[in-house]
Amino acid sequence: MLADRLKTLAPSSTLAVQAKARELRARGIDVISFGAGEPDFDTPERIKDAAVQAMRRGQTKYTEVGGILDLRAAVCAKLKRDNGLVYEPADVLVSVGAKHTLFNLVVALVNPGDEVLVPSPYWVSYPEQVRLLGGVPVEVATTEASGFDLDADRLRAAVTPRTKLIVVNSPNNPTGAVFSRAALEAVARLAVERGLWVVSDECYEALTFEGRHASIASFGPEIKARTLTVNTCSKAYAMTGWRIGYAAGPRALIRAMTDVQSQVTSNPSSIAQWAAVEALGGGQDEVAKMAGEFDRRRRLIVAGLNALPGVSCVMPRGAFYAFANVSGLFGRTWRRPEGDLTLKSSLDVTGFFLEEARVAVVPGKDFGSDAHVRLSYATSDALISEGLARMAAAIASLA
Ligand code: PMP
Ligand code: GLU
Repeated sequence: MLADRLKTLAPSSTLAVQAKARELRARGIDVISFGAGEPDFDTPERIKDAAVQAMRRGQTKYTEVGGILDLRAAVCAKLKRDNGLVYEPADVLVSVGAKHTLFNLVVALVNPGDEVLVPSPYWVSYPEQVRLLGGVPVEVATTEASGFDLDADRLRAAVTPRTKLIVVNSPNNPTGAVFSRAALEAVARLAVERGLWVVSDECYEALTFEGRHASIASFGPEIKARTLTVNTCSKAYAMTGWRIGYAAGPRALIRAMTDVQSQVTSNPSSIAQWAAVEALGGGQDEVAKMAGEFDRRRRLIVAGLNALPGVSCVMPRGAFYAFANVSGLFGRTWRRPEGDLTLKSSLDVTGFFLEEARVAVVPGKDFGSDAHVRLSYATSDALISEGLARMAAAIASLA
């Protein structure tokens, strides 16, 4: 019955874990969720007030498809202020979250059979969006030993005549890597030399704790002409539910993506757009405060993970994820009522933590590494400590 393209579609596992944790809680089971990456802070009041005022003013109608001029201008001011990038409002598209921005890009750019280089580990949605539209995601490994830094040599070796696009995501979901400037510069050279497009997903920019965030499009006019820079209000401003993401890039590409959006969703919520104008343009004090809090929690969870026998975790430098290597648990036996299970994959370990520790994590397999599980530490100190204690007790019960 369903279209062929659905045969390979995997639903988002980050959202699935979150839904599972929510369902268990609704059944009265006390689960600690390190699942979906979503700040636990409330959206700042100034931003909510801007939305209320927009409603009161009657700004509740369709807007320009690509976003109101005030918001596109606020995006330009943000990109100039934080990223050294100069764009005009006509070079900007606002969408229903950055996930929608990225989908618009794939629709506008990728032909069936085109290859998209996806550095691995990767955020779950990149390969799925490409596959859904008939493109071919090509995983290009990074190594844990380098802190999962981008590997320009491996990317170069993976380029074929069908390669169209390179995905760059720093700070990285799921590894927390902040790519080195040298690696980004090498990728910029590669893209210019080989005539490839680059999408730079900078959704976690505001959460850079070590190293310096650099926008690849700022390296020069040639790479800027081939790069789409993507960001979101979701993470920096604790606005995941408002659904405002945005992109800036070459005008012809932005126009094409806007045309796609015009036939699919029209504009993102008018009210959320006015909230985003305030988020990007108003005082940025809370951003630094939230980032400081995440930085502290990062040390707490990584120290705790490294203290667990059979688990190791490199220090993430940005975002709010710990990507823990759990391959040291493989071969241990989980004694379950329904029969013993020898742990041998990230899915086994995820099931083990959920059942035995009541802790939800996301299997690394869906991010391209079956040796890892991902924990979002965008949650309180108390829950982090309690979750780690439960995991320690569960591990101690393994044979
Ligand atoms: N990119 C990355 C790397 C993400 O982790 C996410 C998930 N929030 C997104 C894009 C999309 O975010 P949103 O759609 O909420 O803007
Ligand atoms: N991006 C977040 C995550 O990776 C939220 C869920 C999603 O959109 O995938 O958990």
